[in-house]
This record gives sequence, structure tokens and C-alpha cells, in this order.
Amino acid sequence: MSNPSLLILPGDGIGPEVMAEVRRIIDWYGDKRGISFDVSEDLVGGAAYDAHGTPLTDETMEKAQSVDAVLLGAVGGPKYDVLDFSVKPERGLLRLRKEMDLYANLRPAQCFDALADFSSLKKDVVAGLDIMIVRELTSGIYFGEPRGIIEEGNERVGINTQRYTESEIDRVARSAFDLAMKRGKKLCSMEKANVMESGILWREVVTEVGKDYPEVELSHMYADAGAMQLCRWPKQFDVIVTDNLFGDLLSDAAAMLTGSLGMLPSASLGAPMENGRPKAMYEPVHGSAPDIAGQSKANPIACVLSFAMALRYSFDMGAEADRLESAVSKVLADGVRTADLLGEEGVSPVSTSGMGDAILAALDASL
Ligand code: NAD
Repeated sequence: MSNPSLLILPGDGIGPEVMAEVRRIIDWYGDKRGISFDVSEDLVGGAAYDAHGTPLTDETMEKAQSVDAVLLGAVGGPKYDVLDFSVKPERGLLRLRKEMDLYANLRPAQCFDALADFSSLKKDVVAGLDIMIVRELTSGIYFGEPRGIIEEGNERVGINTQRYTESEIDRVARSAFDLAMKRGKKLCSMEKANVMESGILWREVVTEVGKDYPEVELSHMYADAGAMQLCRWPKQFDVIVTDNLFGDLLSDAAAMLTGSLGMLPSASLGAPMENGRPKAMYEPVHGSAPDIAGQSKANPIACVLSFAMALRYSFDMGAEADRLESAVSKVLADGVRTADLLGEEGVSPVSTSGMGDAILAALDASL
């Protein structure tokens, strides 16, 4: 069988810095675990614009379509703010998401014990938290027609339309149920079926899909109540599935329960390919952080954890994903901190590669 294939797109700013640490971890898996990946690397965002005059070439797009998973660093930077909208670095990212049709956005909210004090919530509410929000990413109110600002009588009216087809709900629900099967087998679907017809249909379709997953315990919650429960006792959830708008809000709120932007991974999944793996792109939630780029200060953990998600969700290597996440957890428990995680007195920060060294040492210790 051929090796799993990965396209790495480091991008701009701290993107290449954090990705360099992931490359070392990928090499570690080859050397120490005999797990080899066919890795290719290419340009995206401002780096691609500088080289080719476009934030994503057709060749790179084709490569992204042909690999098992794409791993992206970050794009953007002040240098590119003056560019025309059509060639801004973010357009490269949007083109990847659109053409790969990545409709399920996975945002974990995971709290490492050692960082529980970073949360704005009480330590016992967040310590050990590990939930996953699945947000529908390519439909709903951000895309529905009609939309616009129109004149009506002597005033203007702003219009957006929430619209979901059964098949759009069905496919994201299946992604969420598949994830629940790989995790705690518990799924909560959130909508507003009390006041929105799209919510009624959402609930019906998710319930129907649930019949194909009898092992998963399915519950439903109104999204506003869900927001309250997320703040009150987030550990009651395992996987949450919701639409584009509610998911946008709920996933940002849930992610911030757990502390620094430098810690947050994400994945966007699409339809299964011929080999059964979903189309997939993994990336840290943070941007290119121009304020610290080039200074070896960036925290590589968000990008490292994005690779752990790839191991789990694209390559079915759950035990290896556990190994990598445990290594990160151990390093944090040992007090190793990049500058963004400082809080305790008397701790001096490690550099980006210093954090990479510590994670590699913890991986060695796991053997
Ligand atoms: P940002 O996420 O780049 O930075 C926000 C703050 O968090 C900064 O102070 C930064 O230093 C800090 N930070 C972020 N990641 C960090 C890490 N790994 N380690 C330590 N500190 C970290 O957001 P921004 O400043 O609003 O945007 C900067 C650029 O990134 C813009 O051009 C924006 O368009 C782009 N952006 C890209 C993405 C993406 O590629 N997915 C996402 C958001 C923003």
C-alpha cells in the first residue's frame, strides 16, 4: 500500500516557522515509528503572490485535490493589505475550501490541565475539557439568496436568507456522526427549531441520519440554550453539530474557554474520496501574527495539534494522535511555555524550536 500523502502549505508570517516544527514531527514518525508520509510542499497566500502573482496557482490547487490531506500554516500580512481583493492572500485559502468543497468545519475545544488557569471560567469547569464542534461551512445564511440591501418605501432593508437543502444537512450530519463514532459516541445537534423552519428541517434530517448510527447517543438543543450550557458546564458535550451561523459563534466561544490562540487547531472536511478518506484540510485557527513573525516566538502547538487531527481523522491513526497529544500535554505539565503562554512568575519562555525540541523529547519518552 502506498504511503499516505500530505501537501504542506506553510504560507506567510509565522506559518513557515510553526510548520517547520511539524516537519520535524513528521520525520520523527518516519524514523521512530516506521510511519512514512509522502510529503510535498508548496506556496499559498502572500508567498504564492510574490512568486506567481496569485495567492494559489492552478497547479497547487490540483495537488491539493489529489493528496490525502492538506496541512496549512497561515496566510496574510500587512505587506499585502494594499492588493486588489481578487489576489489577497486570504483568497488562496478560500479557493482551497471552496474547490475542495470542505463543508464540515471541526473546531475542538480542548483544555490541557496545565493551562486551566488561562480560562476565564473556573478551573473545575474547564480542566480536562475535550469537545468538538462541527460547523456547516458552505451553506446557510452566509450564502443563501436573496440577499442584499434594497429600497423599500422611504428606507433601506438588509436581507439575508437562511437556506438548507436536505442533502446539505445530511452530509454534515454524517461527518459529525462519523466523528462521534471515533470519540465518545455522543452527539448534540443545535438549531432553533422553535422559531426557524430551517431548524425544523435540520432536526428532522439529523434524526433520520441518526438511524444509521444506532451506537451514537443523539440529543437536540436550541442553539441559544446550547450557548448557555457551553458556558455553564461544557463537559456535558462530546460532539456538537450545528449550522454555519450558530457554529461560527459557538465554536469561537467554546475555543476561547480554553486559553491561547496559539493552542487551537482546526480541520475542514469534505466528501469521502475513492479511498474512503474525506477530503481534508488541517490548519491552526490563528493567523500569520505579523507582530511576532521572524522572531522565533510563535507557539507551534496549534499547528502540531492540527497534524494530530490529521492523524486521527484522515489517517485513522487514533493511537498515534493520542501519543502526540499526550506529548504536548506532558510538555505543558512540565512547565515548558512559549511567550504567549506565560503567566507564572520565574518561567522564561522557550523559542518556537525550543517547544518543538520539548515535544520531540516527550515523543521519544513515549516509546
Ligand atoms: P493573528 O491570529 O495572526 O494574531 C492575533 C494575535 O495572536 C497576535 O498578537 C499574535 O502575535 C498572536 N498569535 C497568533 N498566533 C500565535 C501563535 N501561534 N503563537 C503566539 N502568538 C500568536 O490575527 P491578526 O493579527 O488579526 O491577523 C494577522 C494576519 O493574519 C492578517 O493578515 C489576517 O488577515 C491573517 N489571518 C489569517 C488567518 C489564516 O490564515 N487562517 C486567520 C486569521 C487571520
